[in-house]
Amino acid sequence: MSDKTIFQRIIDREIPSDIVFENDAYIAIRDIQPRAPIHVLVIPKRFSARLDDIHDSSELGELMQTAIQVARSLSPDYRLTVNVGKQGGQEVFHTHVHILAGWENGPQGH
Ligand code: ADP
Repeated sequence: MSDKTIFQRIIDREIPSDIVFENDAYIAIRDIQPRAPIHVLVIPKRFSARLDDIHDSSELGELMQTAIQVARSLSPDYRLTVNVGKQGGQEVFHTHVHILAGWENGPQGH
């Protein structure tokens, strides 16, 4: 069994994904179980388990800028979320930002 996270395996092309954006430092893929009409994950290639493991403010800023850039390419309005830790709803311990968008009348109960 590989001890890589599912996202590391996606980055390494060991398993397929629906890639919407990629550069040297980030990959953005469609979520396999979308919870909105548009549900994309922005994943830094440089490994950190959770958002608060990133201590460099320029790295944090670049992650947010990348998420905004990808989100705006998909929808004028959107929601960004990050689940941090088990009690914060995090399931995959490789930092990622969720982009959720495309609801007809906003997220409402989502
Ligand atoms: P949560 O499931 O509570 O949102 P995370 O914030 O850790 O927890 O998000 C992990 C996300 O990764 C989930 O939305 C899940 O559907 C998605 N996911 C898991 N495996 C894959 C995969 N192979 N390809 C795309 N998305 C995936």
